[in-house]
Amino acid sequence: MEADCLFCRIVAKEIPATVVHETDTTLAFRDIGPKAPAHVLVIPKEHQPDLVALTRANPGLAADVLASATAVAEAEGLLPDGFRLIFNNGGFAGQEVFHVHAHVLGGRPLGPMVAA
Ligand code: AMP
Ligand code: ZN
Repeated sequence: MEADCLFCRIVAKEIPATVVHETDTTLAFRDIGPKAPAHVLVIPKEHQPDLVALTRANPGLAADVLASATAVAEAEGLLPDGFRLIFNNGGFAGQEVFHVHAHVLGGRPLGPMVAA
């Protein structure tokens, strides 16, 4: 755990979140500013700052995050119509919270993959 990390503090239950899925290694909770009818963040409980760090340090844990994202998409009812999974990695991607997280987005057509 990193003391100043927002998502580590959610894992530690120091900050509340609406948890929708949990495993030994991952946690999924609703985004506080949803961009779609379904918007869930999936994180590893272990602190890693971004996808590159996670994948290099612990590829098995990266796979756990993908498996949890799939379980969340199914639980949210997103499999029939489809959904989007986004990892923002670094500045050009607009990453704001430096504890790696996957955005599970769905519930309506999501439009172009990237803003023009
Ligand atoms: P990113 O830009 O990929 O780093 O995304 C960070 C996401 O975290 C944004 O979509 C925020 O709305 C979300 N967020 C920030 N604080 C919280 C919080 N306390 N609980 C849930 N989601 C949060
Ligand atoms: Zn953290």
